Amino acid sequence: MSLSLLYHALGLYGFHQLRSWQKGGALYLEVIRSTKRCGACSTWDVKKKGYRWRVIRLLPIGKKPVFARVKIRRFYCSHCGKIRYENISCADPKKHFTHTLEEYVMDLCAYMTIRDVAEHTGLHWATVKEIDKKRLKRRVPREKDLRKIKFLGVDEVSVRRGHNYLTVVVDLETGRVVYVGEGRRVESLSPFFKRLKRIGVRPKAIAMDMWKPYAKAVRLYYRGLPLVYDTFHVLADYSRTLNKIRVDEANKLEGTPEEKVIKGTRYLLLKGQEKLSLRAQERLWRLLRINQPIFIAYVLKEELRRLWKMPSRQKAEKFLNEWIRMAFESGVLLLARFARKLFRHAWGILNYFDFPISTAKVEGTNNRIKVIKRRAYGYRDLEYFKLKIYNLYATRYSLL
Ligand SMILES: [Zn+2]
Repeated sequence: MSLSLLYHALGLYGFHQLRSWQKGGALYLEVIRSTKRCGACSTWDVKKKGYRWRVIRLLPIGKKPVFARVKIRRFYCSHCGKIRYENISCADPKKHFTHTLEEYVMDLCAYMTIRDVAEHTGLHWATVKEIDKKRLKRRVPREKDLRKIKFLGVDEVSVRRGHNYLTVVVDLETGRVVYVGEGRRVESLSPFFKRLKRIGVRPKAIAMDMWKPYAKAVRLYYRGLPLVYDTFHVLADYSRTLNKIRVDEANKLEGTPEEKVIKGTRYLLLKGQEKLSLRAQERLWRLLRINQPIFIAYVLKEELRRLWKMPSRQKAEKFLNEWIRMAFESGVLLLARFARKLFRHAWGILNYFDFPISTAKVEGTNNRIKVIKRRAYGYRDLEYFKLKIYNLYATRYSLL
C-alpha cells in the first residue's frame, strides 16, 4: 500500500511524513501539512514564525494504536496582517483524535458497549461516551418527523425502582419514540405538546393509561382531543382490585378453613379462565363457591374482558353501563369504587371503538428500555439514557 493511501485510510489528508517509529506497541507518525497556508484566509503568501507539536490519535491498525505527532506551524500572513497557527483539518482544535476515528467510534457504538469500544480504540470511556452522545443527538426526532404524527401512545417507565419515572411518547404509526420527558406529571408532557402545537400538529387520538396528569396535559393543550384508555392498563387496574378483594376476604376469614382455600389463589383469579389447567379450574371453582365477593369480582373480570370485543361503540357503551350497574349493585365496596372510576373514564374507554389504538407499542419499547437499564449506564447519566431511548427506533433491528 502506498503511504498516501495509508494516510487517507487513517484519516490524515494533505500531510507528509517526517519520520515514524514504534514505542510500547504503538505506531507513531511524525507529520506535517504538505502546504503552507494561512489558517484564516488560506493564502499561500505566508512566512513561518515558529511551530508547536500536537499528538492526535488516529484509527488503530488492527490492535495497534496509531498516533500522529503533528508539527503545527505558525505563519505570518500579509493579507490578514496577523500571525496564527495553520489549520489541520483532520481533527477539531481541542480534540485529541481525528474525525475519522470519531466516525469509526460512532459506528462501533451502534453495536458495542462503551467499554468495549474504549478498549478497542484505546480512547477513554468518557470520550467514547461523549462521541456516542453526539451520534445519538443526530437521531433525536426533528420537526419533519413530528409533522406526520397521527396517533400517539404515552406511557411511563420507572428509572429507579419505585422512584424516578420517565414519560415516553411513541408515534404509533412508525413505532418511533418521539419524546422522553422526566417524571410523570403534567409538566412531563407539556414541552412536547407545546412543540407540536408550535408546528401546527394536532394528533387524532392518544392512547394512555388512566393516569390523571397525562389526561390533564392533553386537556390543557388539546381540548377535546380523544384519549383512548389502554385496554391492557384498564384490565391490569381491575386485576389489582380483584386481588385486593381476595386479600380482604382472606383477612376477614382468618383462622377458618375458608381462609386456606383463598390463600395462594392470586394467579387462578387473574389468569384467563381458558388458560388454566383442569386441576387449576377445579381449585378455582372451589374458591368461587365458598366466597361471594370473590365470585362476583371474578365474574365481572371475565365480563369486562368482553367489552373490547363488542361490535360497535353503541353496543360497547350499553355493555359498559350494564357492567358498571352490576358492580355498583354487588355490595362490594371496592367494586363500586372501581365502577365509579370506569364511569368517570367511560369516554376514553369507548373511544377505542373509533380509534382502536393501544400503548402496546410503548410497552414493547419499555421492554427494550429495561435492557438498556440493565447495562449499568442507565440512570447515572439521565441525558444519555434519554438519548438511548430516542435511538430505540433506529436500532429496532439491531442490538441496543
Ligand atoms: Zn490570512
